[in-house]
Amino acid sequence: MAVKVAPSAGFCMGVKRAVDLVLDLTRFKTEEKIYTYGPLIHNPQTVELLKRRGIVSINDYEELEKLPPGSLLVIRAHGISPEERQGLKKRGLKIVDATCPRVGRVQAIIKKHAHQGYLVVIVGNKTHPEIAGLMGHAGGKGIVISNIGELSKIPPGQRLCVVSQTTQNHAEYEKITEEIKKRYPEAVIFDTICDSTHERQREVAQLAQEMDATIIVGGKNSANTRHLATIAAGAGKPTYHVETADEIPWDNIKQAENIGISAGASTPNWIIERVIDEIMERKTLQKGLKGGLFRLWVWAVKTELYAACGAGILSLVASSLQGIKPSLNHFLLSTFFVFSMHTLNRLIDHRDSTIIGSFREGLYQEYKHFLLILSLLSMAAALFLSSTGGLLPLTLTTLLLASGLLYSIPLFPKGRKFRRLKDIPGSKNLATPLAWGLVAALIPALNENAITPATFVAFFFVSGLSFLRFVISDLQDLQSDKFIGKETLPVLLGPRVTLKIVNLVAFVLVVLPVVAFQMAWTSGLALFLILPVFYLWICSYLYDRKRYYAGLTKEGLLETAYYLAGLGQGIWIWWIHIKGKF
Ligand code: SF4
Repeated sequence: MAVKVAPSAGFCMGVKRAVDLVLDLTRFKTEEKIYTYGPLIHNPQTVELLKRRGIVSINDYEELEKLPPGSLLVIRAHGISPEERQGLKKRGLKIVDATCPRVGRVQAIIKKHAHQGYLVVIVGNKTHPEIAGLMGHAGGKGIVISNIGELSKIPPGQRLCVVSQTTQNHAEYEKITEEIKKRYPEAVIFDTICDSTHERQREVAQLAQEMDATIIVGGKNSANTRHLATIAAGAGKPTYHVETADEIPWDNIKQAENIGISAGASTPNWIIERVIDEIMERKTLQKGLKGGLFRLWVWAVKTELYAACGAGILSLVASSLQGIKPSLNHFLLSTFFVFSMHTLNRLIDHRDSTIIGSFREGLYQEYKHFLLILSLLSMAAALFLSSTGGLLPLTLTTLLLASGLLYSIPLFPKGRKFRRLKDIPGSKNLATPLAWGLVAALIPALNENAITPATFVAFFFVSGLSFLRFVISDLQDLQSDKFIGKETLPVLLGPRVTLKIVNLVAFVLVVLPVVAFQMAWTSGLALFLILPVFYLWICSYLYDRKRYYAGLTKEGLLETAYYLAGLGQGIWIWWIHIKGKF
C-alpha cells in the first residue's frame, strides 16, 4: 500500500499571499472585523475558520451597503474590475488589495489590447469572479467563451486577443486556441494559465496514471479543484473529489493498493493532512506483526506516550553524559512529567485542535475523562518520584508542573491580546525545551548532588534537541497556526529566519559534544549524540525542499529523534563494554 501526495497540493502562491496578508492584518490592525470582497478562498471549512478570527466575507451588494465607511475591505486574489474598485472607494472603504500578481498580469494584457482596439476573448468560466474582474479591464471590448462550441459567438471582422482564466484546464485551452488559430490566423494568443496551475495539472495527470485511485481534496465550489478531478478522471482510474476526510469513499477505495492525493489551490494543508492521516491509518499495514506494530506506534504517538517515553530516554542519556548511573527513577520522572504536561495542556486548550481537526482530536474527545485522570496520576507520580531525591528536585518539579498548568489557562479577562502565558509570541518553543532540559538533565544532577560542566552539556543537548523537534514541527504547521492565531516562533519570525535558527542550533549541538569530549567534560557518548541532531537536520532540510508529511507521521518521525539518542547511547555502551574502547 502506498500513498503518494502531489508536491504542489495545497495553497498556490496567490492564495497564500492573500491569506497571509489578511491574517497579518488580524495580528497588527486594531479593527474588530476585517471584510473580504467575496470569500477569500473557495473552501467552506476555511471560510468558517476565518469568520472565527473576525474575517467576514461580503457576498452581495446588500451586505456591502451595510458596511460603515472606513471599514477595512480586502480584495481577494481573483481581483476586481476598475469600476468595482471605483465604487468601493466612493463608499469610503479602506481597501487592501490582495489581487494575485499573476491575475494582475492578465488584467494588464487585457487592458492594453482592448485599448489598442482588439476584441479580447477570455476563455474561462463565465460565473467565476476572476472572469468578472478580467472583463471589467476589457472596457466593453471583451467576450467570454467556455468551450469550443462558443467560438461561433465571436463577431466577424475583429482583431482578436485571446487570454484565459488563470486556472483554466490546459488541454481545453490548447484545443480552443488551436481552433482560433485556424479561423483567425491574425489572433494574438497569450498563455495566461498560471505556472502553478500548469504544474498542478501536470502532476495530477501523472499521479492518476501511476496510482490505482486518486483523491482530489478541496471545495466543491473551487473551479481549479474541479479541473483537477476532471484531469485525474481522464486517466480512466477511479477519482474522488472530497472536501474533507469525512467524505473519503472507503468502500470504493477498498481494493486500491496505491492511492494518489492532490488538492486545489485553495485547500489548506491541515485538511490535506487529515485525508493523508486517515488513509495511512486505515489502509497501511493492517495485517500481521508489522500491522500490529504500526498500529501500536500510531496509538503511542496519538496518546503522547511516544513523546513521553522519548523524554524518559533523554533523561537516561543526560544521566550518562554526566557520568551518573542511569536509573528507572529518572526515566519515569521525565516520562510522567512530559505525559502529564502535554496531555493536560491539550485537554485544557482543546479548542485549537477542534477548529482545525488534529489527528488526536477523536481520541481526546472519546477518552477525555480517562486521559484527564491518567495525566493527573502522572503528575502525582512525577511529584512523588522527584521527592525521593530531596527538597530541591521536588521544589523544581513542583514549580515546573505549576507553570506548565498555568501555561494554557486564561489569566487575564477577555479582550486582552495576551490572556494566557501561551499567547506570548514564541513562548511554547522556548518554555517547553527549557522544561525538558531541567527535568531530564538537571534533576538527575540535583539528585546526585553533582552539578558539573557535563550538566550544562546534558541540559543543552536535551533542550536543544527538543527545541529542534518542536520548531521543525511548527514550521510545517505554520499555515494552520496562523489560521488559529498560535504565535509560534515560525509565525513570529517567518520560515526563513526560523530555518536559520534551526540550522544554527543544530550546528551548536554538533560542535558542543566534540568540544565537551575534547575538554574531558563528558564521555565519548557525546559523539554518538550527533546522530539524532543530524536526523532532525535532515527533517528540516526535507521541509525546506517541500516534502510533505501528514500530522501523525510528521509528529511520530520527529519524536523518533529521542529514540535515536537512546540508540546512540546503546551503541556507545556496546562499544565500551564489548570492544573495550573509548
Ligand atoms: S492559481 Fe495562479 S493566478 Fe490564481 S491565485 Fe493562484 S498563483 Fe495566482
